[in-house]
Parts: sequence; C-alpha cells; structure tokens
Amino acid sequence: LEERLKKSDTLHVVGELAAGIAHEIRNPMTALKGFIQLLQGSVKEDFSMYFNVITSELSRIESIITEFLVLAKPQAIQYLEKDVARIMRETLDLLNAQALLANVQIHLNKGEDLPSIYCEPNQLKQVFINILKNAIEVMPEGGNITVKVEQKDCDHLQVSIKDEGSGISEGKLKRLGEPFYTTKDRGTGLGLMVSYKIVEEHHGTVEVESEVGKGTTFHISLPIQQK
Ligand code: ADP
Ligand code: MG
Repeated sequence: LEERLKKSDTLHVVGELAAGIAHEIRNPMTALKGFIQLLQGSVKEDFSMYFNVITSELSRIESIITEFLVLAKPQAIQYLEKDVARIMRETLDLLNAQALLANVQIHLNKGEDLPSIYCEPNQLKQVFINILKNAIEVMPEGGNITVKVEQKDCDHLQVSIKDEGSGISEGKLKRLGEPFYTTKDRGTGLGLMVSYKIVEEHHGTVEVESEVGKGTTFHISLPIQQK
C-alpha cells in the first residue's frame, strides 16, 4: 500500500509539472520546425546530415511532449458515453503506417453488442497509443498484435493488447508505470506512467501478463457504469 501511495504522489507532482511546461514547449517547437524546413531548402552546401539529426531530435522532443501533453489537459475533464471498440478502431487507423513499417500486423477482435462507457475518448486513445507503440517497438523483426475488446463481466469492459515480443521479467514487471522507467536507448519512460494515470482516473485497472521470450498482454479493465 505504501508503495502505491508513493507512486501516485509522484504522479501528481509529475502531472503538475507537465501541465506547466507542455503547452509552452509546443508552440516554439512548431516555429522551429517550420524555419528549419525553410532553411533546409535554401542552404546550398550539403548539410543534410545535420538536418537529419536536427529533425530526428525535434521529433524526439515531440514524442516526449505528446506522451506528456495529456496530463496537461484542464482538470475539468468531460466524460462522454462512447463506444470503446470504435475508439480502438480510430486508434489503429492512426498507428497503421507505423505498424506497416515495422512489419507488424494488428488484429482486432470485438465482442457483440458491447455497451458504451463513460470516458474521455482522447485520453483513452492516448492509453491505447502508448501501449500499442510499446508492442510495436518490442517486435523489431515484426509480428502480430492481437487486440480484443470484450465484456468482462456485467459491469466491466476489457481491452487486451497482446504482443509476441521479448516479454518482461518478474523483477521488471513491478517497475512498469514508474515515471522515467525505460529499458530503451531512446525511451522516455513516460508512456505507461501516463496510461496508468488515465486508467486510474477512469476508475479502471491495468494488469500485465508476461512470459519472457513469448510476449506480453496488457489487460485494461474499464467500468461500464461510471459517474
Ligand atoms: P518507453 O516506451 O519510453 O520506454 P514506457 O513507459 O512506454 O516508456 O515503457 C516503459 C518500459 O516498459 C519499456 O522501456 C519496456 O522496458 C517496458 N515495456 C512496456 N511495454 C512492453 C511490452 N509490450 N513488452 C516488453 N516490455 C515492455
Ligand atoms: Mg513507450
């Protein structure tokens, strides 16, 4: 219990911090990107290597901000009655290109006549994006991701995202969701932290099932009756 309290304290602080800076960084970023593109077109000598580095570093900053920005949303979040399977389909459309490039096939199975739930659709999308991106990244040689949206019991929907990646050892499993915890060279360690926070705000839970060498499944359970 103590462990959990500590974790959510940290989340709160990080959230406030994010709220302060995310928007402030977005605007100058847009200007930078625009002017660098202009410059790239008008410089004669071959500086393309520098431009590649600049562009890739800028997009890294962008992904940090994107994973963060959701925390910077105003506190009064509006929950709407929405179809989760549809939110998932829209999310998969967004990730289609990235999956294709990585040689990853995403399969979506959804139950029949799923009830809608009260949620903030953009935030749920953010959760799905963050978890799906991890699933794609953990299969460098490509593979399959199986997404399921189904009714778990009379008052919960469950979204499962299963990959065929490296899996996560027991010791590392406990650290998921800690701010800045990453095992990637260029990771932010923010994606799961943000996702857990959003699911918590929806009064849902995230469970992770993993087998080293086989793959990982994230189970997101969301209450059907909410608010
Ligand atoms: P990042 O992706 O920037 O590293 P995340 O918060 O998204 O940050 O993930 C934190 C860590 O959790 C990852 O670095 C990785 O070690 C582990 N992880 C997350 N999802 C998976 C997965 N599907 N398979 C294996 N490891 C994972
Ligand atoms: Mg990630």
